[in-house]
Amino acid sequence: MIADDVRRHFTKSFDGEPTLVVSAAGRVNLIGEHVDYNGGEALPIAIQRRTAVAVRLRPGAAATRINSGGTGGVLTLDHARLARKRKWTDYVAGVLDQLIGRGIDVPGLDVAVASDIPSGSGLSSSAALEVAFGFAVETLLGLHTDPVALALMCQNAERQFVGVPCGAMDQLAAACGVEGHALHMQFAPATVCAVPFTEHVLVVDTAVPRTLRGSAYEERVKECAAALVAVQRVAPTVPTLAAATMEQLAQAELPDVQRRRARHVIAECERVRQTVATLAAGHQFPGHLAVASHESLRDDYECSSPELDWVVQHAMRASGISGARLTGAGWGGCAVVFGEAGALESLAASLPADYSQAIGHRPRTWVVSADAGARIES
Ligand code: ADP
Ligand code: MG
Repeated sequence: MIADDVRRHFTKSFDGEPTLVVSAAGRVNLIGEHVDYNGGEALPIAIQRRTAVAVRLRPGAAATRINSGGTGGVLTLDHARLARKRKWTDYVAGVLDQLIGRGIDVPGLDVAVASDIPSGSGLSSSAALEVAFGFAVETLLGLHTDPVALALMCQNAERQFVGVPCGAMDQLAAACGVEGHALHMQFAPATVCAVPFTEHVLVVDTAVPRTLRGSAYEERVKECAAALVAVQRVAPTVPTLAAATMEQLAQAELPDVQRRRARHVIAECERVRQTVATLAAGHQFPGHLAVASHESLRDDYECSSPELDWVVQHAMRASGISGARLTGAGWGGCAVVFGEAGALESLAASLPADYSQAIGHRPRTWVVSADAGARIES
């Protein structure tokens, strides 16, 4: 258990016991990709892969000491001199920076971190770290903000301090997850509504380094911003790209690339609404919408990869599988597969060997279901 691990790491690093242990969740997005920064909607679940944080006050100190994973030594973050260092502590320093920037007098802390979320695979280990740490500090200091506000503060930390122009989905899922429910999210403004979802899903990590990802992601953000400007020339009251209609897009004058990016965003939001309606009516996840989402991401948004396409095609040939799509930003990372629980388990068992043979290295697979967001462990 990750909460037990973090207690052990804490005691090893700092002597004595933590006063509080909390955790926050990794996430998988079921549908609604590349829409958060376009004011659209998405449907992720928080998963059982979690990051735990153990904390204790350091009376009289104005610096936080921190260790992750029980190895690598203890690092120190001086609260008066928080600066980006281009390492993992930036995610924590960014949250401290947000809290201090709000006028909160954050005392020095001893902090241990433990996680079973694979880092850099698209299951959002960075947001889980930010949210778990932010939740720990708020709980320890008796500050009662709601999970949406906590998530938005952590998003600001990642945008402003770490320098990643991310949307709010990852942090909202890490903070607001509900066991047995998917999270219907809107982003302008941010709201989260839990929708019953008790199915298992299979996550396949293509285990391909995402070297292009940072720059390509920023390029998409800019293309969408430019597409919105073009749409607003014909429809000035449209507030976000996700709020535009296909008719308005058809009237707008813009380069083909921007048109395809916008078409993905508008169609993807409609797929999210259809999925939510289907689940709310008590039906299974509509797998065909996952496939349509993947095709749109592959062809219009151009953020798939040969490995992700292979996983989706391979999964759709297996019996008992209803749908599959890339999940997360793309350009490598993970795919998600929907279907009967038994079919997902047998695909999880057989896929790695087939993938290795076709692609040349082993993928990782996890069968997950919807779990809670930020919570107190002890
Ligand atoms: P993802 O969020 O999809 O896992 P990111 O690249 O956004 O991928 O975030 C991964 C980074 O977050 C890691 O390289 C590391 O800097 C930081 N990180 C996440 N979890 C931990 C952890 N448990 N301990 C230390 N650093 C972590
Ligand atoms: Mg991340």
